[in-house]
Amino acid sequence: MTGSPLFDIAGRIALITGSSRGIGRALAQGLLEAGCTVVLNGRDEVALARTRAELAELAGGTVFARAFDVTDSAAVATNVAAIEAEVGPIDILVNNAGMQRRAPLVDFTDDDWRRLIDTNLTSAFVMGREVARRMVPRGHGKIINICSVQSETVRPGIAPYSATKGGLKLLTKGMCADLGPSGIQVNGLGPGYFETELTEALVADEEFSAWVRGRTPAGRWGRVSDLIGALIFLSAPASDFVNGQVLYVDGGMLSVL
Ligand code: NDP
Repeated sequence: MTGSPLFDIAGRIALITGSSRGIGRALAQGLLEAGCTVVLNGRDEVALARTRAELAELAGGTVFARAFDVTDSAAVATNVAAIEAEVGPIDILVNNAGMQRRAPLVDFTDDDWRRLIDTNLTSAFVMGREVARRMVPRGHGKIINICSVQSETVRPGIAPYSATKGGLKLLTKGMCADLGPSGIQVNGLGPGYFETELTEALVADEEFSAWVRGRTPAGRWGRVSDLIGALIFLSAPASDFVNGQVLYVDGGMLSVL
């Protein structure tokens, strides 16, 4: 890698949860192109194997894949241990796996609520704790939690999702408080509205799509590649004194009414 050593992350080992598609896949590609060894994750083994083959072809580099459910703490413990044994020490953890469910508040079931909390919030705690147990004795590491503009603000129909993303922002700060003294930086990356499978229905809804474009100073939906620069910054020595922050990549949406 040429350029400033501040942004040199070549040779680092990065684990990105929920990277079989969407934002996670793009983040994995960005880290591969920056010279990292990348470990992909998702639950669907077939989809994961396909993405691994595609990324190896597209981006080159060394790419591994481990299928496991990030809400299952026993599976997380087993797989993090296996990754460290087979690939090496994890330098960068990206907690990206997440889900959305939209409904009027009165229609949400207990199961919907728990599934959202488990997938979007508990997973980052369980993964972060397991990886941090190994980063702490090594005295360095980068953890990046994928937050959202919904870490700050809400819309009708997504109260439980917003609660998970607001919680993730404060979990990020709490992890910074506990892990900062051990040389670990924990930051959030908050996408605005991005075109992925998660938002397929919204993109297809012309009224909503026009609202997003009008509401965003950049005048468009985010493209997954828009997130790579911020991810590299938060993974690199350039951010060694940046801790507990959420960096919003939203085309300016949060700054305007
Ligand atoms: P997608 O639905 O496109 O992808 C989600 C990924 O997470 C898939 O790889 C999925 O694979 C994986 N996943 C889901 N649940 C689990 C689980 N329990 N264990 C392991 N892997 C899991 O979502 P996006 O790419 O759009 O979103 C990624 C992240 O970005 C989420 O945290 C989301 O909240 C956040 N975000 C997205 C925005 C957008 O506009 N798209 C805006 C702001 C934030 P599998 O199903 O095989 O497990």
